[in-house]
Amino acid sequence: MTLADVVVIGGGQAGLATAQAALAWGWRPVVLDASGGAGGSWPRYYDSLTLFSPARFSSLPGMAFPGDPQRYPVRDEVVAYLDAYARRLDADVRRNERVDRVAEEDGGFAVSTSSGSVVRARMVVAASGGFSRPYRPALPGLDTFTGTVLHSAQYRQPAPFAGRRVVVVGGGNSAVQIAVELAQVATVSISTRDRLRWQRQRVLGRDFHWWLAHTGLDTSALGPRLVQGGVPVIDDGRYRTAVRAGTPDHRPLFTRLDGDGVVWADGTRERVDAVILATGFRPDLPFLDDTAALGDAGAPLHHGGVSSTVPGLGYVGLERQRSFASATLRGVGRDATHVLKALARQAVPAQRVAR
Ligand code: FAD
Repeated sequence: MTLADVVVIGGGQAGLATAQAALAWGWRPVVLDASGGAGGSWPRYYDSLTLFSPARFSSLPGMAFPGDPQRYPVRDEVVAYLDAYARRLDADVRRNERVDRVAEEDGGFAVSTSSGSVVRARMVVAASGGFSRPYRPALPGLDTFTGTVLHSAQYRQPAPFAGRRVVVVGGGNSAVQIAVELAQVATVSISTRDRLRWQRQRVLGRDFHWWLAHTGLDTSALGPRLVQGGVPVIDDGRYRTAVRAGTPDHRPLFTRLDGDGVVWADGTRERVDAVILATGFRPDLPFLDDTAALGDAGAPLHHGGVSSTVPGLGYVGLERQRSFASATLRGVGRDATHVLKALARQAVPAQRVAR
């Protein structure tokens, strides 16, 4: 059994930023991470992934992203950066430790892992991301579809789809990036309920993220309200050009899946080999099931990342937790500091947890 000031569940960017903020306060964090290596879920993202934000706007607190600050780093550079960041932190980061239960106990928490270890602490921060809980919408006729259905979480590269007819469902950055990449080897449609929204990567000679930072929109609670109609696709021009050229084409969401095909909104039926659901993720928090932390469908009940039902419990890395940037490399550090400050005000004094 270990005693800590704060247990951080998850060792990706959100967990590391939380550990960094805890250390800055003089607290002893223990980070429990289910994965065996560094980088959180980044090593599992698709091979061609390039950041939508330049290196300058892709850093965690205390360590700049290396190299040219204007460039857009690729997936493996993020993994290397997070690995270096974890090594530089003087924190107790334990890998291959999957948390399966958080129990409230004597004004604090007992956090148990599947390996049988228990860590007790006054505060717990869940930073477990959503990649293990892909959201799969209930599409009409899905159970009848005989082709391949996969979530974007399972997509790695275009080769297995060469020569196939593929429909990508979803209109966010991942949907468009995957569809454009696939369209080089397959016949691809992007299928969405709403229109595609575009955001130019560069505005008046500056990266879009520069404007977000300098207008304050990036940190403002107003930001998420402005994008309620859907997250725009950040584009340097090539994605929009590809969609205009029909590689991939963009269509309204099909009305149903049917056997080996889809039925489009105009009633035509077409044979389709694969449907890729680029439909996002949900917070993955089953270890909180024995607490009052979760509401409908396992969603955390919180204000700005601070649990509204369990004192001493917080979250870092939730989508739009406090701002536009909450679930990004550039924004997660600010949220971690905010959440820890709030938890410190709530948590019972240290002496109440046996030391
Ligand atoms: P994760 O990276 O998912 O890490 C969570 C960690 O918690 C994992 O190591 C997991 O193993 C662990 N874990 C889960 N459950 C448990 C448990 N029960 N016990 C212990 N450990 C557990 N952001 C940007 O800033 N720029 C981008 O360009 C960008 N592109 C993206 C592209 C894609 C395809 C996706 C999906 C996201 C992108 N993001 C981007 C968003 C975000 O930065 C990443 O999703 C990032 O990985 C989130 O970090 P995280 O630490 O919150 O979660």
